[in-house]
Amino acid sequence: MQGLMMDMPLLVSNLLRHAARHFPDVEIVSRRVEGDLHRYSYRDCHDRAARLADAFTKRGVHVGDRIATLAWNGYRHMEIYYAAAGLGGVVHTINPRLHPEQIAWIVNHSNDAYLAFDLTFVPIVEAIAAHCPNVRGWIAMCGRDRMPATTKIPNLLCYEELLAEGAEGYVWPELDERSACGLCYTSGTTGNPKGALYSHRSTVLHAYAAALPDAMGASARDSILPVVPMFHVNAWGLPYTAPLVGAKLVFPGPALDGKSIYELFESEKVTYSAGVPTVWLGLLQHVSANNLRFSTFRRTVIGGSACPPAMIRAFQEQYGVDVIHAWGMTEMSPLGTLSRLQNKHLDLPKEAQQKILEKQGHVIFGVDMKIVDDDGRELAWDGKAYGNLLVRGPWVVKEYFKGEGGDPLVYDAQGRGWFPTGDVATIDADGYMQITDRSKDVIKSGGEWISSIDLENLAIAHPAVAQAAVIGIAHPKWDERPLLVVVKKPGAEVTKDELIRFYEGKIAKWWTPDDVQFVDAIPLGATGKILKTRLRETFKDYRLPTA
Ligand code: AMP
Repeated sequence: MQGLMMDMPLLVSNLLRHAARHFPDVEIVSRRVEGDLHRYSYRDCHDRAARLADAFTKRGVHVGDRIATLAWNGYRHMEIYYAAAGLGGVVHTINPRLHPEQIAWIVNHSNDAYLAFDLTFVPIVEAIAAHCPNVRGWIAMCGRDRMPATTKIPNLLCYEELLAEGAEGYVWPELDERSACGLCYTSGTTGNPKGALYSHRSTVLHAYAAALPDAMGASARDSILPVVPMFHVNAWGLPYTAPLVGAKLVFPGPALDGKSIYELFESEKVTYSAGVPTVWLGLLQHVSANNLRFSTFRRTVIGGSACPPAMIRAFQEQYGVDVIHAWGMTEMSPLGTLSRLQNKHLDLPKEAQQKILEKQGHVIFGVDMKIVDDDGRELAWDGKAYGNLLVRGPWVVKEYFKGEGGDPLVYDAQGRGWFPTGDVATIDADGYMQITDRSKDVIKSGGEWISSIDLENLAIAHPAVAQAAVIGIAHPKWDERPLLVVVKKPGAEVTKDELIRFYEGKIAKWWTPDDVQFVDAIPLGATGKILKTRLRETFKDYRLPTA
C-alpha cells in the first residue's frame, strides 16, 4: 500500500522560493570585487535568479547543460547557483586557484555551455578562452560600466545585461529530484580531477541535515558568513542551508584577510561562520595583534583539514567562540561528521570534553561509516584501532561524472556499496571518528603507523610555531621516519631541540620527529590544504641525521 502524502520533489529552486516567500526581507550582504558592500533581500535574490534562469532558457540552455563559475562568494554567484539549478541545468563551480591549464581541462571535460567570472579572474579567462571552443558565452559578472577592456575573450557577455533579457514571473520547472544540479571537481592531487555530480535530492537532503542542531546548527536567528568559498564544495552547502532556515547571509567576496573578515563580522553582526583552519590563522592573528573582541560571533565550523586543538582552545578560551570541528569531502556534498557533545558528556571534566570536540566527530543522520583493514574486515569502534574509512549515504557519490575512474565503491556482503574516503581513522565507542591521516600521508615506521596530523597538531600548540607539516622520510632501518617542517611566527625564535623537547611526555617516544626543518612557507593546495606531495618533492634529496 502506498502512503497518501503529496509527492513533491525535493528541488533546489524550492529553497530560494521558500526564503523569498517566508523570509522575504532577510538580507544577503556581499562585499563586491569593486570593494563596496551590496545588500538586498531573499526576495530580490529570488526574483533576479528567476530572471536569469529565463534569460539562460531563452538563450537555449537546456536541462542538464552546465553553467560554470569562476567567482568569489557573492550575491551574483548565489543567483547563478539558483538560476542554473532551478532551470534544470547544472552549476559547475571551478576553483580559480587551480592552474589555468587545469581549469581549461575541467571546462572542456564538463563541456560547459557558459562560464561566468568575477573581474578578478579576467586574466584566467583570457588565458583559457581560446582553448575552450565549446563555451558559448563568457559572462563578466558586472554591469556595463565595469566591463573589462579585452579583445582576448570571444563571446563576452555582461551579466547585468544578460539578466535583463529575462522576463519577470518565470516559473521554476518541476524537475525530477534525481536530476543533476551541481558539479564540483575534486582537487585531483593525483591524476586528473574527477567530477562529483550532485542531484537536487542530494543537495536538499544535505541542506536539511546540515541545518540540524548537532550539525551546523543554523537558524533564522543567525547571520552566517561563509568564509569557505562557494567553489569549495558549495561553501559546504551554506548557500542552500541559509535560505532553508531563513538565516541572513554575508558574503566576503575576495577580501579574505583577517582585517576585512573581522570588519564584516562586526558590521553585519555575524553569529556564525565556516572555513578551513588556514583562514582562521589570519583572523586570530589580526584579532590578537589589535586586542579586539567579537561582539556577536559565537560559533564556527572548521574543517577541510584537521583543526589544530590549539585553535579550538584559542577560539573558545580567549574569544568565547565555539568551534565545531567537521569532516567531509567533495564526494560527500561535503558533510559527513561534526563534533558536538552529547547529553552524557555534559558532566565530564572540561579536558575530557575538549578531547571529544577535537575529534572529527559523529555522523549526521543520512551518513553511515565504518573502518576496515586492508582486507576489508570491519574494525572495532574502540578509539584505538585505525583503518580505512568507508562511507555511504544519500549525498555520497556512487560514481564520478562521465564514469571517470570506473566504479569507485567497494561492496559488503549484502551487496551495499561503500565509498572509500582515502582517509585513515579511528571510531570510538560513542561513534566519534578521528582522522589519523590521509592514507597516502601516514608515516610507516618499523611496521607501525605514525599519524602526521597528531604531530602537526602538537607542533602548532608551540607559541613560536605559525604552521607545521610532518612528512615521512625514507630511513634505512625503520622504513620511514617523521620530519617536522615549521614556519615560525613573525619575530618568534625557536630551535630544533626546543621543538623536539616540546613533544616529550605528549606522545610515544618513537613518534618523535627525527629532525626539524624551518621554512618560509608551507605549500598549500587550491582549497587550503597542505600539499604534502609538493613538500615530499622539496625534501626528496634530504637525509635524516639519524639515517
Ligand atoms: P576535499 O574533497 O578537497 O574537500 O578533501 C577531502 C579530504 O580533506 C578528506 O578526505 C580529508 O582527508 C580532508 N579533511 C576534510 N576535513 C578534515 C578534518 N576535519 N580533519 C582532517 N582531514 C580533513
